[in-house]
This record gives sequence, C-alpha cells and structure tokens, in this order.
Amino acid sequence: MVNNNIMSKKEACGVVGVYDREKDVAERIFYGLMALQHRGQESAGVALTRGDGNIYLKKGMGLVGEAFSLAELSMLAGRFGIGHVRYSTVGKSSLTDAQPFNLDSVALAYNGNVVNYRELRENLRRKGVYFTSTSDAEILLNILLREQRETGDFFDALAELTKVVEGAYSAVCLTGEGEILVFRDPIGFKPLCYGNVDGSVIVASESVAIDTCGGKLISDVKPGEALLISDSGVEKKCFTCSKQKAHCMFAYVYFSRPDSVIEGKSVYEVRLKLGVNLAKTYENDADVIVPVPDTSRPAAEGIARSTGLPVAEGLIKNRYIHRTFIMPSQNLRENAVKLKLNPLKSVLKDQRVILVDDSIVRGTTIKNIVQMIRKAGAKEVHVRITCPPIISPCFYGIDIATHRELIASKKSVEEIRKMIGADSLGYQTIKGLVKAIGLGEENLCLACLTGEYPTPYAQKLAEEMKKKPPIQGNRYIELGLEGRR
Ligand code: 5GP
Ligand code: MG
Repeated sequence: MVNNNIMSKKEACGVVGVYDREKDVAERIFYGLMALQHRGQESAGVALTRGDGNIYLKKGMGLVGEAFSLAELSMLAGRFGIGHVRYSTVGKSSLTDAQPFNLDSVALAYNGNVVNYRELRENLRRKGVYFTSTSDAEILLNILLREQRETGDFFDALAELTKVVEGAYSAVCLTGEGEILVFRDPIGFKPLCYGNVDGSVIVASESVAIDTCGGKLISDVKPGEALLISDSGVEKKCFTCSKQKAHCMFAYVYFSRPDSVIEGKSVYEVRLKLGVNLAKTYENDADVIVPVPDTSRPAAEGIARSTGLPVAEGLIKNRYIHRTFIMPSQNLRENAVKLKLNPLKSVLKDQRVILVDDSIVRGTTIKNIVQMIRKAGAKEVHVRITCPPIISPCFYGIDIATHRELIASKKSVEEIRKMIGADSLGYQTIKGLVKAIGLGEENLCLACLTGEYPTPYAQKLAEEMKKKPPIQGNRYIELGLEGRR
C-alpha cells in the first residue's frame, strides 16, 4: 500500500505577491487571486506582514471568495503579501496542505512540482526535520531556510537549492521582516511575471492578475532568476545560469487565460494559430465549427478565419461546475461531462460539425461529447485537437497520469477515432504547436508529447514506469523509483 503521508501533491496552481511603499495590499492580493482562479479552485491562501516580524496567514477551502471575503481581507494591515490558489490532483485535499506554507516567520507558495520529492523528504527527515504536511512547498521552504541560515543570503541559498531540487517551481516567499522573494527554477517550466503600479510591485503566475490590479506588466521572471523586493528596492539576480529553457507548452494550450501574455507571447494569439494550423493540416468538409468551451474558442476562431466556415456555440457550458478532470472514478467522470455541457440542437441538427477541443488525455471527455453531439442531430463529427497526442506522463505539475491511462500512448490515431466515435480525428502536429507558440522547440518542455524529459530523474522515472507500470491510480512521483512494486 502507498502511505498517504508520503504522497506528494501534483499541483497546477497560481501565485501572486504584492509589495506597496505606503498602502496595504490585502485587497490587491484578493483581486489577483480572483484573476488566477482558473489555475486552482480547491483552496486559497494569503500571507501578509507589516514587516514587524509577524506573518498573518489565512487559508480556506474552495474558491477565493469562499476561502475568505474581501471585507475580511480589507481589514488586514500589511504592505507585503503573497497569495496562492491551489489545484491538487492527487490524494486528499486538505487545509494542512494548502499554501502559503509558514515556517519560522517565512511563508512560501509555489506553482510546480518537485520531481525528487521522496528523496529530498527522506534526506530532510534524517536530519531531524518534522513535517506537518505532505506538500512539497514544505520541502522547498525547509531547504531554502537551511541554506539561508548557512549562507546568510537568499540568492546564495537559491544557488544551493537548485543543486538538489529537480523540478518545476515558480515561487513567492514572504519574510516577517518585510521582504518578498520571488524565484523561478533554472529552466522556467511554469510562468511567473512581474509588473508595477505607482509605488507597488506585483508578481503573478499570469499577467491577467497584474491587469486586474491596474498594473503594467514589466517582464517575466527569467528562468533561474530571483527578485528580492523590500523598502530598499528591488534586487534582481540570476542565482543560476542555465542556457537550457523548458517552458511548459500546456500553459499555452490549456492552463492559462487567453488574455495572458507569457514569455512575450499572447496566449490568445497562440491558440488562434493552433486553429489555423489545424485548418491547414486537415480537410474541412463541414458546415459549422463548434468549440468545446472555453479553452478551444480561439482555435475555433482560427479555423473559421482560414476556412470561412461559421463558428457556433453548439455546446453550452454550465460555468458553475469545476474540475471534471479530477473526479475520482471513471463513472463519475462520464457523468460530469453531462453536468458541465449541454448540446444546442438548433445549431447541430443535420450539420457536418468540426468539433474543436484542447486535449485528449484518457479520451473520456471527447467520447462523451461526440456522442452528445450526435444525439443532438449532427450528421458528421470531425474532431480537431489543438494539442498533439499526449503519450507520456508529466512530472512537473500537470495532472497527466500514467502511460496506461494515456490513450495516445497505446492506441493509434485511427484506433482513437474509432473509440471516440468520430468521423475523422485530427491532432495538432508538434511542428505546428512549436510554430504557434513561437519560442523555438529548444525552449519548450514537450516531454508529455515526445517522452524526452528536460531533467534526468524525470527521464529515469518515465522509463522505469514504461517498463513496469505502477498499480492503477498510483502516480510515480509519489512512489519514487524505489517505492514501486
Ligand atoms: P480526458 O477525458 O481525455 O481524460 O481529458 C481531457 C479533457 O480534460 C479535455 O477536455 C481537457 O480540456 C481537460 N484537461 C486536460 N488537462 C487538464 C488538467 O490538467 N486539468 C483539468 N481540469 N482539465 C484538463
Ligand atoms: Mg476541456
């Protein structure tokens, strides 16, 4: 049996940090988190300080507005603060594992995943560290603080941290003395950017949070770069120099809001181009283009621009249903599609439909949607997917499970087409994806599409996992190589 206590949580979260020279920041953190709500709906948390040595921490389950009210936050004083929205996809979700995580008057929240979690945890445990959660934020914070004590400097501490931690981390950290430390792993898997508005600095996973706070995007935090923000100003340093970059392609395909700009690229424009490329790659003998809301709307627009075909809202989304992806059983997952989407007969009846979705993981969602569309009277259903086939697991924080669960890792496109009941199925090409993002293949993490991982332990995990599949439902990251049976 897997011991729940040693499970790492895979997270795809959102972080925000706000510093202000004069005013309190709690409200802006609230607005920033609201803007990042799509990145995590499971729990939310804030940490604030006046710089008097004390950190005020507030966390709650659910959406930002459920975890705390704006009125409640507005009462809180503090010109320095960080916040987090969380989306854990493994194990129990609980408040213990919610972030920010606090230790010795330093709070940390991050987006990503530590790949060698088990090994690091074991090492720390041997040194006498007692863990209060199963979150890898606690591991990162422990390592950071130990190194900071040794070196007396956060940048030096981060240089040491990168030597032992393998994984994706875009982090915000708050000290009781009134400093915000922001850092991003050496190859920049997850997005992280900063901006300003009169006398304040805002850091966030996505630029939409800066927009919402009325700020202006200045730049992405570079891979391997850290910012130390305080009343003395903003100190910026590269704590490690790595030429290699590996920005997660899924940030563009799925995870981010279309109105965000990541690494200088508009997510909306990227998705539009993904659609254009699909239209160029496949036949378009159809009457209408129907996006699966919301992610694939810009791609549907791209197909429409290329083909002249109309886009119509043939599927209506109930916007109050979240997270079908992590429904525990297959049965529940199938029902969840019906809860979330309803077909519009007047759009679909007797039509040849190009149905656009962002990705196929297990294949459950799209199979149900195709059925739903046929039942509503569609004559033909031609499925187009903006992401290339996902064949390998992700160890960096997206919930793409095991090879066994990934339909494209074992079936051909034609076999998948039959299984989902479509008249045709066209996936994005890797070349088309790379071109649409426009950052160059050498700067992207495409591990889930190619099986080639940008970091060594992840590569080893994937290879071992392929040889010896784990027991159903267990993610390799939790077990570690030695934990498999
Ligand atoms: P499938 O049913 O094939 O396993 O899942 C594919 C569906 O899940 C697609 O509709 C896609 O938009 C969505 N999806 C893909 N990745 C994620 C993720 O990391 N989180 C959530 N919530 N949905 C995802
Ligand atoms: Mg979807």
